[in-house]
Amino acid sequence: MMRKKIVAGNWKMNLDYAAGISLFSEIVNMVKDEKKGNQIAIICAPYIHLNSLAKLGADVVKIGAQNCHQNDSGAYTGEISAGMIKSVGVEYVIIGHSERREYFAESDELLAQKTIKVLENGLTPIFCIGETLEQRNNGSYFEVLKAQLDKGIFGLSAEDFSKIVIAYEPVWAIGTGLTASSDQAQEVHAFIRKEIAAKYNAQVAELTTILYGGSCNPKNAAELFAQKDIDGGLIGGASLKSRDFVDIVK
Ligand code: PGA
Repeated sequence: MMRKKIVAGNWKMNLDYAAGISLFSEIVNMVKDEKKGNQIAIICAPYIHLNSLAKLGADVVKIGAQNCHQNDSGAYTGEISAGMIKSVGVEYVIIGHSERREYFAESDELLAQKTIKVLENGLTPIFCIGETLEQRNNGSYFEVLKAQLDKGIFGLSAEDFSKIVIAYEPVWAIGTGLTASSDQAQEVHAFIRKEIAAKYNAQVAELTTILYGGSCNPKNAAELFAQKDIDGGLIGGASLKSRDFVDIVK
């Protein structure tokens, strides 16, 4: 078995309905002949797009949501459950993006609950971790990342853990144009894989897909993805242009 290689676009809070359909259709047309066994392209779109995108081309480009609620249903005005997301043909859900952690005060404990709910519904969590610039500069980043892993996903059984995707996204590199160098990113990815091996076992570690995110673009993607422990990317800004996103996929 080989681990999956994934390029996932994260549209964040961008694109109205018509613009989303149009961009997604372009992407599907451009990658439809590229599809290969263990390589997966995903678009994580705002909720309004999910149903239509899944019907338009989920056989070519998989669909992901950017968040979900930790409960199944009920009086949670404005929220959407993993089951509801699943019901429109979505297969992935980003959990714990640094923007959710920062602007919506999502704690590690809450993210652990959301991850479980996503798995219970047969969806794949793309679980994000990452350090701030201050934590990078004061050298505490390994500790910070380890705590995010411990509290967020290391409570899962080995069986459940083997279903998730991890994204390492240094907060200082998101939307800033500052990319982690391939050495910096590889160092952290190797660390994450080592921690997974210590917590579970070498085989689980070997099979876990670990994505890099943070100002990834068509110019730097090839070098980043060539690193031994980097299995693809989570792409923000560059996923809003079909050419850039598809170049990264290619
Ligand atoms: P960026 O965002 O590519 O625009 O830096 C990445 C992300 O937030 O997932």
